[in-house]
Amino acid sequence: MISLSRRHLLTGAAGLAAAAALPRISLAQTAAPEGPFKLPPLPYATDVFEPHIDAKTMEIHHDKHHGAYVANMNNFAKTAPQLGQTPVEAILANLVNVPDGIRVGVRNNLGGHANHTMFWEIMAPNGGAPEGDVLAAIDRDLGGLDKMKERFNAAGLGQFGSGWVFVTVTKDGKLGIEAMPNQDTPLMYGKRVLFGNDVWEHAYYLNYQNRRGDYLKAWWNVVNWQKIGERYAAAKAGTLTL
Ligand code: MN
Repeated sequence: MISLSRRHLLTGAAGLAAAAALPRISLAQTAAPEGPFKLPPLPYATDVFEPHIDAKTMEIHHDKHHGAYVANMNNFAKTAPQLGQTPVEAILANLVNVPDGIRVGVRNNLGGHANHTMFWEIMAPNGGAPEGDVLAAIDRDLGGLDKMKERFNAAGLGQFGSGWVFVTVTKDGKLGIEAMPNQDTPLMYGKRVLFGNDVWEHAYYLNYQNRRGDYLKAWWNVVNWQKIGERYAAAKAGTLTL
């Protein structure tokens, strides 16, 4: 009854004018519901990686793509509040415990949140070079820095469609290279990520279009080796999370 009379009221030119005057909910408001998941701010300006990664890509990638994963998780947390009370890496390692109806969504969006949180952290302008324990591990397990870059880039280039390429680290400090589809992460298999690169087209398309290989090569210019050294030490201490 109410909807019928409302529809009647809004019929015709007067109705169109009334509809146009109704308050509009902006996309920004619907895309960022409050909740336990937070978008970490970028620890640097969006233009610091030019020309290797352009400012517009950084802005859209962080604010819109990562922002959407966070917003989607906050929506899931409305129906499954335990999601907001469990460490992210523990949820991802036990997706079987997530309710059926949202399991795929949590896999994709929480994986995306974890991967991007790591990604912003392991990049920096003037990020130095690997040294000390992490360099020794790269030499021991991955054939040295040049060989590691070659294998990492090949794995990233070989990932069909969207995904990531990671260097994983065990608690013993042993390194490996793995590519994964979508927003999957080694965290889903109880592993830890030393660092990784995003090979979704949204990470490079404005500058590189189809040239993923060129992006993979250029990306090494923005890697934060100091932070990666800290992550390596944390992995061996058992305190590395995302
Ligand atoms: Mn991304």
